[in-house]
Amino acid sequence: MNYQWYPGHMTKARRMMQENIKLIDLIIEVVDARIPLSSRNPDIDELGKNKARMILLNKSDLADERENEKWQEYFTQKGFHVVKMNAKSGAGVKNVLPVIMEACKEKIERDKQRGIKNRPIRAMVVGIPNVGKSTFINAFAGKACAKTGNKPGVTKGKQWIRINKNVELLDTPGILWPKFEDQSVGAKLAMIGSMNDQILNLEELSLELLGYLHKCYEGILAQRYELEESEDRLAMLSAVAKNRNCLKKGNELDYAKASNILLEEFRNGKIGRITLEQA
Ligand code: GDP
Repeated sequence: MNYQWYPGHMTKARRMMQENIKLIDLIIEVVDARIPLSSRNPDIDELGKNKARMILLNKSDLADERENEKWQEYFTQKGFHVVKMNAKSGAGVKNVLPVIMEACKEKIERDKQRGIKNRPIRAMVVGIPNVGKSTFINAFAGKACAKTGNKPGVTKGKQWIRINKNVELLDTPGILWPKFEDQSVGAKLAMIGSMNDQILNLEELSLELLGYLHKCYEGILAQRYELEESEDRLAMLSAVAKNRNCLKKGNELDYAKASNILLEEFRNGKIGRITLEQA
């Protein structure tokens, strides 16, 4: 999903988040493993400061496995319970339930001491657009999709999905707004395809991607596009254009087409498993 946010959207999203957070014990935050920081909005830390917290490093199939492990460690040290997964294939999804129980151990213990029995943990999935929230909810709850119906205190139309006798999940994810006023965050969101391509300068973005790949994944471009890597990013884009036969009338190189190919192949993981920010 491509999007553009306006102040009104953000205010509304924040208000909905504040309302929903009151209903839950646990925040399950989905991030994109290729940009684990840029696909977060740290405002959620303030909004959810008294809740149990989980981070799902999703799309880990598209990200560098070594970096996935480092990010898992990074967030664990910050006090999150972390699961690495691929919501699309379902890989890793089975690890989520035991980690939910672990993340909510204190609440379960507290309930027990107060003599409260069988009060299920209530959780909500949150994240910025396109990180895989819906895909995860379907993979996690799809089969168990016994909805529990409206309950008092729940905004009309909102439903809880009963995962098992211990866990209930809000059926619609909470949408966080990205922090793209930071230039580098915007560029990374654009690279993974989470911005509206129509408003972007794709050639500039491709040059940035080429520079990054050459610096951090040396050899990966040489291999895929049979080019000579160098600091000269424009020369590399020309080489991609030549390799993919991107020509305009008069045999001029078509940089726009080459940029499209490069970005599409990157977004689909065809260039390789790449993480755009290091832990
Ligand atoms: P939402 O906006 O956060 O609800 O994101 P969606 O669930 O709609 O997912 C956005 C896109 O990412 C869809 O095309 C999904 O198929 C894809 N997707 C979701 N999870 C994964 C994943 O783990 N790996 C890959 N490769 N694609 C995924």
